[in-house]
Amino acid sequence: MRRRAAYMLLALALVAPLPGAAELDPEEHEIRSRVEARRDEMVSLLERWAGMNTGTWNRPGLEAFAALLAPALTELGFEVESESPELAYPGRGRVTMGPLLVARRPGPPEGGQRFLLVGHYDTVFEPDSPFQTYRVDPDDPGRAIGPGVADMKGGLVVLLYALRALADGGLLDRAHWTVVLNCDEEIGSLASRARIEEETRTATLGFVFESARAGGEMVSSRRGLGQFYLTVKGWAAHAGSSHSKGRSAVLALARKVIEIEALTDYGAGVTLNTGIFEGGTRRNIIPEYAEAWIDLRYDELAQGREIRERVEQIARHDHVEGTTGELWGALHRPPKRDTPAVRELLELHAEIARAVGFEAPDPIHVGGGTDGSLMGALGLPTLDSLGVRGGAAHTDREFVVLDSLPERAVISAILLRRLALRPSGREVLSPASVPEGDRWVPAGGTLVNSARSGRKQR
Ligand SMILES: [Zn+2]
Repeated sequence: MRRRAAYMLLALALVAPLPGAAELDPEEHEIRSRVEARRDEMVSLLERWAGMNTGTWNRPGLEAFAALLAPALTELGFEVESESPELAYPGRGRVTMGPLLVARRPGPPEGGQRFLLVGHYDTVFEPDSPFQTYRVDPDDPGRAIGPGVADMKGGLVVLLYALRALADGGLLDRAHWTVVLNCDEEIGSLASRARIEEETRTATLGFVFESARAGGEMVSSRRGLGQFYLTVKGWAAHAGSSHSKGRSAVLALARKVIEIEALTDYGAGVTLNTGIFEGGTRRNIIPEYAEAWIDLRYDELAQGREIRERVEQIARHDHVEGTTGELWGALHRPPKRDTPAVRELLELHAEIARAVGFEAPDPIHVGGGTDGSLMGALGLPTLDSLGVRGGAAHTDREFVVLDSLPERAVISAILLRRLALRPSGREVLSPASVPEGDRWVPAGGTLVNSARSGRKQR
């Protein structure tokens, strides 16, 4: 019976277009040819942008880059504001972050969709990284390698050319637009989060231009993320003449890290990773200081909260008498759910991709979080991974599939055009309208101090 139904579907597929594989209309054909005519321009813009260093902590580099982004949006009729939010960050004290760009373009006087488009222009490659330049992949001329080409300067090129194609056809007036471009995404958007959430509450649909996988796989859902910075202070002493008087910070931190990593539970979807562990100064000195950065991933918000409590207890526990643990931490990305509204957006995206002649592989669940996770957690239907096809992000092999620049801009522009023609179904959001289980609780840096036991402090 099931087999017969499958054959019938197959027969239908052979005589009729695939379900949902609608044709492009004349306006959409025009969008497509406008974007495709600018392919080379898109590639050279990406080359220029990838060559500009925008590490999260490189403020002059970020300012220079923002100075190019802002006018590109102003030209399309956006009003652009720039902010410099403050952030207290471990090891750096109070830092002025930014520029955080918020660009607005009003739509029809009555109704209309309120689109929120989000992207980041920082990368994980600071000026001291050896990975600074763009080059065509010597093994595959259809690809280019460079810092941020996929994550996500390529996505910014896609975003910009999708908007340009709509602007050229006079189509931007059909919706209200807000574009948020932040430059602290790679540390978890700790400084820009409040602004992203504020804009999320008044939007009807959200779009994030992080990259898709190389084959075009879109992201349907994401795991939640947390980060911890754990420091231990001990007591220095000569490792030979006064070993028993020393209090080893390295030993205490090692014990804490072993307990923390033991919280990993693959079956439950919880993983912890100590990515950085440092301490001590010399072989023959009992180390008085040690620190670690720990990454947390979880599938359910409740798991994230529980692990945070457990890590706080471990930080506080007296693993070596006379040492003090101090913890800073944040659950900075909630899990992003595959809701029916997200499904619908993914299906529309796939339908357009097929209509334009590109493959539309099945969406996937991934472990990395984005600003789309913040938007989704507030109940905004958000389509993630609209950027280029690419991969190997955060490594010196990061690549982009060059043809995906025009391809993805065409798909996004047509998607936004179609959605702008739909009546907006979402009212301004109040936190109460978000289902209890999905409600995202502010979780900025938390600090735990354990009482120093044993010897006196100098
Ligand atoms: Zn990114």
